[in-house]
Amino acid sequence: MSQKVLIIGAGGVGGVVTHKCAQVPEVFGDILLASRTEAKCKAIAAQIERPIRTARIDADNVEETTALLRREKPDLVINVALPYQDLPLMDACLAAGIDYLDTANYEPPDTAKFEYKWQWVYHDRFKEAGLMALLGSGFDPGVTNVFTAYAAKHHFDEIHELDIIDCNAGDHGHPFATNFNPEINIREVTARGRFYEAGEWKSTDPLSVSKTYDFPDGIGPKKIYLLYHEELESLVKFFPTLKRARFWMTFSDNYLKHLEVLQNVGMTRIDPVEFEGKEIVPIQFLKALLPDPASLGPRTKGKTCIGCVVKGVKDGKERTYYVYNICDHEACYREVKSQAISYTTGVPAMIGAKMMLTGKWRGEGVFNMEQFDPDPFMEALNQHGLPWQETFL
Ligand code: NDP
Repeated sequence: MSQKVLIIGAGGVGGVVTHKCAQVPEVFGDILLASRTEAKCKAIAAQIERPIRTARIDADNVEETTALLRREKPDLVINVALPYQDLPLMDACLAAGIDYLDTANYEPPDTAKFEYKWQWVYHDRFKEAGLMALLGSGFDPGVTNVFTAYAAKHHFDEIHELDIIDCNAGDHGHPFATNFNPEINIREVTARGRFYEAGEWKSTDPLSVSKTYDFPDGIGPKKIYLLYHEELESLVKFFPTLKRARFWMTFSDNYLKHLEVLQNVGMTRIDPVEFEGKEIVPIQFLKALLPDPASLGPRTKGKTCIGCVVKGVKDGKERTYYVYNICDHEACYREVKSQAISYTTGVPAMIGAKMMLTGKWRGEGVFNMEQFDPDPFMEALNQHGLPWQETFL
């Protein structure tokens, strides 16, 4: 039963995935952690009692990755590098005949735009090769897709409205820092908002739609902003009864103030500019200046609350259901030396891998999370550190 997994990417999320896989030796018998900077893999391995092997890999290089996969023959690749590496890693998995899992959909480096189309076109190739690829097995996307599928399966005859609400009520004490990769985070937040309503996609100016939401578990009221998020695309496809689907995220006034200034002075640009005879991409330079998200762990206090509010009908009556997880930054740090944002992404990546390796979720082709039975995943969330709660509003 125990199998071999190759984790690619030794950032904040990679650290959590490695810790969590190491906690489940009956499934993950052999763990290899590979990334661009092997020293980061070794630093993570040193935190863990079980032996974790490490390697250096440039995941943009399909040949190099294919050679590593052929040599190591893992049962599964867990991609927790950056979204830019999704397609080269899927190509390498196809070439070497290995199953694939990731937590974020592909983004071309020169356009701040993410869509599933680039990865969905791999479906036939994975199917013909008898392989499985699981897309978006983080929290959002990931658990939010499973929450929606669980709501639809157990509490509704038909679901009509979905609001995914992501609240980080944590404080890291820095004037400005992002909780995951700054480049990916800032590209997402500064993009135009987008939501689905009455059969069509509607777009809004960045961060122009907001309201206050009263969060449970002592977090209280916070301002939430409408953003576009990738799971809306697959959820609308797989739950065609949805009439409206939106994604919301909390931001502090302080975060937004800094972001506005950085944007106004051009520091969030993703196109190259010439500086002293050299080309630099401002957002990449900004990333070099900002705190490394992996360094926020010991400083972050407070909780996250991410969940789905689902409206629909059951037995002819309308109802509203809320399912959510509360995660405590300091408790995460005590367990795996990471803050809750990396934790809430890394745990579902491990669980998705466990679902695949134990055969609870199997298929040939490319799949989103909501295409599988949500029940074993929901049970595993409770078992592996992300317990959830549900209520009717
Ligand atoms: P980090 O920037 O902390 O880590 C990324 C890691 O990938 C780094 O170790 C980096 O190497 C490595 N890497 C980058 N390029 C390559 C390459 N070409 N070859 C090999 N390794 C490479 O990011 P996070 O850990 O915060 O995020 C990881 C992923 O998780 C991202 O895709 C992010 O979008 C996703 N995510 C998903 C969420 C969800 O809920 N679904 C939420 C949060 C994040 P180096 O150390 O050398 O730079």
